[in-house]
Amino acid sequence: MTTIRAVFEAMDEFAPFSHQESWDNSGLLVGDPQAPVTKAVVTLDITKAVVNEAKTEGAQLIVSHHPVLFHPAKTFLSDSVPYQLAAAGIGAICAHTSLDVAAGGVNSCLADRLGLIRQRPFVWENTRFYRKLVVFCPHEYTDRIHCAMKEAGAGTLGDYAGCAFVSSGEGRFLPLDEAKPFLGKPGEWEYAKEDRLEMICPPSKVEAVLAAMRKAHPYEEPAFDVFETTALADSDSLGLIGFLDAQQQPEEFAGYIGQRLRAGGLRYVPGQRPVKRVAVLGGAGGDTVTKAVAVGVDALVTGDVKHHQLLEAMEAGLTLVDAGHFSTEDVVVEPLCSRLAARFPQVVFHKSAVFGDPARYWTASR
Ligand SMILES: [Zn+2]
Repeated sequence: MTTIRAVFEAMDEFAPFSHQESWDNSGLLVGDPQAPVTKAVVTLDITKAVVNEAKTEGAQLIVSHHPVLFHPAKTFLSDSVPYQLAAAGIGAICAHTSLDVAAGGVNSCLADRLGLIRQRPFVWENTRFYRKLVVFCPHEYTDRIHCAMKEAGAGTLGDYAGCAFVSSGEGRFLPLDEAKPFLGKPGEWEYAKEDRLEMICPPSKVEAVLAAMRKAHPYEEPAFDVFETTALADSDSLGLIGFLDAQQQPEEFAGYIGQRLRAGGLRYVPGQRPVKRVAVLGGAGGDTVTKAVAVGVDALVTGDVKHHQLLEAMEAGLTLVDAGHFSTEDVVVEPLCSRLAARFPQVVFHKSAVFGDPARYWTASR
C-alpha cells in the first residue's frame, strides 16, 4: 500500500524540501501522511476545479508546484481550497522552490523542452557551507568511526572520499557515580589515549553523520564539536544556461519559444544579435535581466517580466522573452507525473485536465 508519506519521501529524495527558499512553504501542506494513495492528480496549482477533479476521480492526493497554503491563514472556511481538500480527505504535497532548483525540476524541464544543450547553472542560490565535525575517540576505534562517518556522508572533497585528519593526544574524564564508562571506573580519573578525528560534512548530512558516529563510538557520551566554516559545500542553481543547436534571429526565436511551450501568446523584446546562448528561468524571473546581461547570454526566457525590465533588456540589446508564468512552469508537470508513476506503479498519477493557463491573449492585427 502506498501512503502519502511514501510519495512525500520520494519527492524529498528527488527534489529535497530542505532546498526551498526561506520564504517558501513547500512540503506536505494538507492531509494525513498515513493515508493510502491509489490515485493522484499532478498540477501546477490547486484550484477549486482541481479539488473537484480529484474528488470526482477518487484521488486521495494532489501534487502541485505552487503551495496551496502560503501566507499565514487566519480563517479556514468552506470556500477555501485547503478546507475543501481537508473536508474531502485529499492530501496536498506542494514542491515549489525545491522543485525549481532540482535536477529534473522546473528549469531542467524548461531547458530540455527548448532543446538547450550543454546546460549549466544560471543563478546560484541557497549557498551552503561545510561543517567541520571533530570527534574524540579511543585510538583503537578511530578507523571504525572514520568509516561510519564516511559512509554517512562526511569527508567528501571533490573527487576524494573519506578525507580526514587524525591527531593523537590524551583524553581525561571523571566518570560520576551513575556512569557506565567504557574505560575506567566511576569515581576515578581516567587518562585515555585518544584520537582527534576531523572531517568536513555538508550541512544536510550533519545529523546522519553524528548518528553514525554515535553508533560506532564505544563511549556512553562521545565528545564532539561541530564548527561552521566558510568553505563552500554546495549551492543550488536557479535557472539554466544552454545553447541552441543553431542560432536564430530574435523574431524567429520568439516564435520558436511560443511553439515549444505551446504558449497562448507571449511578449518579447528583440535583441540586437542572433540568439544562440540562452538563459531560462521558469516562473517570475524578470529580476534576472541584469544577471543575463552580465553573463552575456543572447536571450533570456522567463515569465512575469515588468515594464522596466523590458526596457533594461532593450537598452542592453538582450532578447527577452516573457512566455508567461504558466507556460514556463507547466513544462514540469508531465515529467513529474511520469517520474512518480514510474516510482509507484500501483498508483495512478495523471496531470490535471482542468487546470491550464488562466490568461487569454489578444493581439492587435498589424
Ligand atoms: Zn511559479
